Amino acid sequence: MSFFEVFDPAFRRFVLGNAPVKQLASGFDWAEGPVWFGDAGCLIFSDIPNNRMLRWTPGSGLTTFRSPSNYANGNTRDRQGRLITCEHGTRSVTRTELDGSITTLVDRFEGKRLNSPNDVVVACDGAIWFTDPHYGIASDYEGYKSEQELPCHVYRLDPNGSIRAVATDFNCPNGLAFSPDETRLYVADTGRVGMADPSHIRVFDVSPDGRLSGGGLFHEISPGHADGFRVDTEGHLWSSAGDGVHCLTPDGRLIGKIFVPELVSNLCFGGRARHQLFITATTGLYTITLNRNGMAYF
Ligand code: MG
Repeated sequence: MSFFEVFDPAFRRFVLGNAPVKQLASGFDWAEGPVWFGDAGCLIFSDIPNNRMLRWTPGSGLTTFRSPSNYANGNTRDRQGRLITCEHGTRSVTRTELDGSITTLVDRFEGKRLNSPNDVVVACDGAIWFTDPHYGIASDYEGYKSEQELPCHVYRLDPNGSIRAVATDFNCPNGLAFSPDETRLYVADTGRVGMADPSHIRVFDVSPDGRLSGGGLFHEISPGHADGFRVDTEGHLWSSAGDGVHCLTPDGRLIGKIFVPELVSNLCFGGRARHQLFITATTGLYTITLNRNGMAYF
């Protein structure tokens, strides 16, 4: 069997014919938010319904990182290497300090509670960009069922603490990532449930003062959703999809797929040379080594 499907010959040099898709761990209910800590040699990710965060290391496998995790979802690192986490349960974005203490960075916009921050990236200027769909307050499965006070926006939290809604025309914004030079921001809309709802990635131009323009369709994901994606050093997008991981060119063309046996939620680059994809997929954590390197941001 092949782990790949090639739609454009360029994709052949991105993958290694003898590198398998391998399951590293299992037993989760819905895993998301993988982030690689190269300095600590481990991967941290969230198992949202089980209200915990896990740590996987090549030597000792799986251990608990944080439990309860306030129904944590997306994770990334800031430019000082600190863990930034989206929490459904507290409806906030937090930072884990180097001494292990946890700081709430934001939980409100214009005096109203956020919905349930989902995914997060940090720009080189230290600004924290995150999406705020309602998934974590829509039921008691991935958080606490609660009243929605705000529409589902994309936000930018300035290093000075001020917050701005930078995109306000989403149904359910979800995964997001910058292009390597941070002049473009990709944001997924994963809609609600139903055929008429969006399942695509949009692309925005980012101005130096952190404002967005454009926002046109970048790629329609099929099957499934672009719940999470990351960018390699040449600007290709590696996105979750219903049948695995899809590789998209910087102009939005699908050039290849990696098949994963479970529905994929998120992924990140990691390993010695950021040449390994770590893939969270429903109940399992998977990896595959690529002939590609991920961006140095997480
Ligand atoms: Mg997500």
